[in-house]
Order: sequence, then C-alpha cells, then structure tokens
Amino acid sequence: MQTNHRFFNMGNNSNVEKVSCLIIGSGPAGYTAAIYAARANMHPVLYQGIQPGGQLTITTEVENYPGYPDGIQGPEMMVHFEKQAARMGADIRYGIATKVDFGVRPFRVEIDEEKWMEADSVIISTGASAKWLGLESEQRLNGYGVSACAVCDGFFFRGKEAAIVGAGDTAAEEALYLSKICSTVHMIVRRDSMRASMIMQDRVKNTTNIKIYWNSETEEVLGDKKVSGVRIKNTQTGESSEIPVEAFFVAIGHQPNSGIFKGWIDMDDAGYIQTVPGTSKTNIEGVFAAGDVQDKNYRQAVTAAGSGCMAALDAERYLTAKGLH
Ligand SMILES: Cc1cc2nc3c(=O)[nH]c(=O)nc-3n(C[C@H](O)[C@H](O)[C@H](O)COP(=O)(O)OP(=O)(O)OC[C@H]3O[C@@H](n4cnc5c(N)ncnc54)[C@H](O)[C@@H]3O)c2cc1C
Repeated sequence: MQTNHRFFNMGNNSNVEKVSCLIIGSGPAGYTAAIYAARANMHPVLYQGIQPGGQLTITTEVENYPGYPDGIQGPEMMVHFEKQAARMGADIRYGIATKVDFGVRPFRVEIDEEKWMEADSVIISTGASAKWLGLESEQRLNGYGVSACAVCDGFFFRGKEAAIVGAGDTAAEEALYLSKICSTVHMIVRRDSMRASMIMQDRVKNTTNIKIYWNSETEEVLGDKKVSGVRIKNTQTGESSEIPVEAFFVAIGHQPNSGIFKGWIDMDDAGYIQTVPGTSKTNIEGVFAAGDVQDKNYRQAVTAAGSGCMAALDAERYLTAKGLH
C-alpha cells in the first residue's frame, strides 16, 4: 500500500459532518450503491460531482439497459435512477469531492474545498471520461453519429458503413465488434503500426470488412445534423480524402476520474482503481470502488450498476463487522 502522509487542517470543526456511508459520484454505479445502502439503513450521503447523472446524460438513446423494452433517453434514465435513490432515502447533494484523507478513521473527504465529511465507509463511483480528438465537428455531432462506445451505439448503424479512430487494444476490440454489425469498418490509424497486441492486430487485419488507413489523421467529421462522412489526411503524402460513413467512433482511450485518490488507493498505470477480484474492495479497508473508475473492460451502465450494488453490500458487511452499523 502506498501511503500519503499529508494531514489536512480541517479548520472549524463545526464544518465537519459525520456519516456512515459516503458515496462519491452519481452515475449508474453511485445511484445503485445509494439505493442499496439506503435500503440497508446506512443513511448514505451521495455527492453528485460536476456531472449529475454521469456519462449517460450526454448520450441520446440507450437501448441495452434491461427494463426499458422501448429504449430510453440517457438523461431521462438517470433521472429515474436519482428518483429511485431519493425515494429510498438517500441524501443526494450537489458537490464535488476535492480532497481525501484515508489515513484516518473515520475517513475524511473534503467537499467543494470548503467543508469536510467524515465517513465510516466510502464508495468511490467517479466514473471515467472518454478521450476525444478535440475537433469542433466531433463535438457538434456527438450523439448524432459520433460516439465513444461501439458496444453502446454500434447497433444503431447495423448494415451501414462506420469509421473508427484508434490503434490500441480497445480500438481493435471495438473495430472487431463493429465488423459484425456494420457493412464496412474504416479504421483510421495515426502511424504505420498499431499499439494493440499482436493477436488483436492479426484479428483486425484478417477481418475482411475492416479497412485500415495507415498514417492517417482525422481532419473533420462531415455532416450537418448527423454524420455523413469523415475527411482524413495521409500524413505521409499530405493528401486529404473523404470516406462516406454514417457513424464515427472514437476509441483513443478513457481517463478514469481517480486523480484525488492518488497516493491512497492502488491504481494501475492508467489510473483505474484496483479492486480485489470479485469484490469492490480497494487496498484500504472500508473504501470501496464501483463502476467505470475501476473497470476498463466492460464500461457499461448495467455493469456499473451491478458493481454499485456490490459496493453497497460490501460496505454494509464491513460496517456490521466493525460494529459501526
Ligand atoms: C456517449 C456515451 C454513450 C453511452 N451509451 C451507453 C449505452 O447505450 N449503454 C450503456 O450501458 N452504457 C453506455 N455508455 C457507458 C456508460 O455511460 C458508463 O459505463 C456508465 O455511465 C458508467 O457509470 P459510472 O457510475 O461508473 O460513472 P459515470 O456515469 O461516469 O459517472 C461518474 C459520476 O462521478 C461524478 N464525479 C466524478 N468526479 C467526482 C468528484 N471528484 N466528486 C464527486 N463526484 C464526482 C460525476 O459527476 C458523475 O456523476 C455510454 C457512454 C457514453 C460516454
């Protein structure tokens, strides 16, 4: 375990509030943890962070979350999550966790750089953010053919042509996934080689409906109201060309929102929190992690919700074992 020997001046003690279970983040993982924790009488307090509702609030239709046979808009679904957690008694607040001190018990979490929470247990569900190329057209058409999740949105483009940008394992995996749904997958790779493992590269290269564009950069995603193509530039020849596609997938990686936990919680090189396999337990007893912040493999709403459930149950068992609940 890494240790962090910072000690924080908590200032005026009247600005400290003690809770049994503190949940950080309001995506599917955080709200599900809140539902379970509230129903277990743990009186959870949940801080929503800068994006109340999490990543699904920036998407349009969600078709793969069980229980919605006709699909549902992402923002609406997250309102349902919030309402359900609130109805069970979770205390849901707007606020950002800005600092933590996991070297003391109860744990301390600073909110909005102005007040401190003390918590017997903490559930980290701060999610991850997709990395984007940074093009204006990519942002404008996000949700209208531009996506960072092939598993989420590939189905909307079945039988159509799609482009994907990226060269790592995730990009290779997503290209292969799309190749089973789309007629042709145009894979845009910045260099003359891929970063993906050899086995993934071989699979991509041997898939007949994946066409790779080496040494190519995306100049613009084309389309007015929805994606109609992509303009790429060959960095060797300087030539630009357009590929007509209806979808543009960005697979250049994700950034887990775990910065404030560095030095306390074990993470991998990319910043994903490491949990004990099959549980939500972190290296610090009493601190649990759920959802995309600890999952670089699946990154789905339903898996995030499932792990939020696990975190609440793990926290409840921990509090009971310690005689704190
Ligand atoms: C465009 C898009 C479309 C998608 N479509 C689908 C789909 O159709 N189906 C599907 O299953 N999945 C989809 N996903 C993936 C899905 O959104 C994620 O897997 C899921 O939201 C992860 O849930 P989470 O609870 O782990 O975190 P997130 O949803 O990422 O939520 C993280 C939460 O943590 C909060 N937070 C972060 N830092 C702090 C802090 N310091 N203090 C307090 N709070 C903090 C944020 O405000 C946010 O509320 C999509 C993702 C994107 C980006």
